Amino acid sequence: AKRPYIVGNWKMHGTRSMLAEARAIDRAAERLMKVEVALAPPATLIHATRKEADLIGVGAQDCHAAEGGAYTGDISAAMTKDAGAGFVILGHSERRTYHQETDADVQAKAASALAAGLNVIICIGETEAQREAGEAEKIVAAQLAGSLPQTPDAGDRITVAYEPVWAIGTGKTPTVDDVNAMHKAIRETLHSVYGDAASEIRILYGGSVNAQNAAELLAGPEVGGALVGGASLSAESFVGIVVAAA
Ligand code: 13P
Repeated sequence: AKRPYIVGNWKMHGTRSMLAEARAIDRAAERLMKVEVALAPPATLIHATRKEADLIGVGAQDCHAAEGGAYTGDISAAMTKDAGAGFVILGHSERRTYHQETDADVQAKAASALAAGLNVIICIGETEAQREAGEAEKIVAAQLAGSLPQTPDAGDRITVAYEPVWAIGTGKTPTVDDVNAMHKAIRETLHSVYGDAASEIRILYGGSVNAQNAAELLAGPEVGGALVGGASLSAESFVGIVVAAA
């Protein structure tokens, strides 16, 4: 089985002064090789973070689906890779909400990223209203099926992150039972799309993960790691999560 995968998503935080945190996280990862550790800094810091860090993965938070063209302000998968990224987070709920990204957009971006040699982390998750309506599993399964690239042979380059929208940045988390039930449902969808290749795919949990709750949230049989926002911004709290995963 693959190692637990702990990924820090810095979102729109960080200037070069934050590279000291990346370096400290990289140092700590050296003693915690049982865990695969990665950071997704803002695009402006990908190259510098890759140079600072020897061991950890470095990735991006988004890319454009096209190979190039008249898309002012956008960054292609190949550019992202050229800057030093090894992977890209796609379909984060903040992209879906603030940039109206659809499942089809995420699927196109994922295909482009894989073609450019990047691994992908595909994010999905229900809103609070959808959970209260009892629709969480149905919504997440549909999002996932619509967002996954149609490349079954790329199973080992794909990670899925389940991030309930209402748990992001709120300090609220689902119960461990709810996480486990959702991850089991996600695994079933992955199998229906990819067949046997699906067993390679890690399913991360994301949403208000911290060093205190990580061990419990990560204990489930289908929880392959965590996608961490706020608590990834300091080496101290992020390393605490890595320790809990080890
Ligand atoms: P928080 O850990 O800040 O809740 O963010 C989770 C997230 O959105 C990671 O992608």
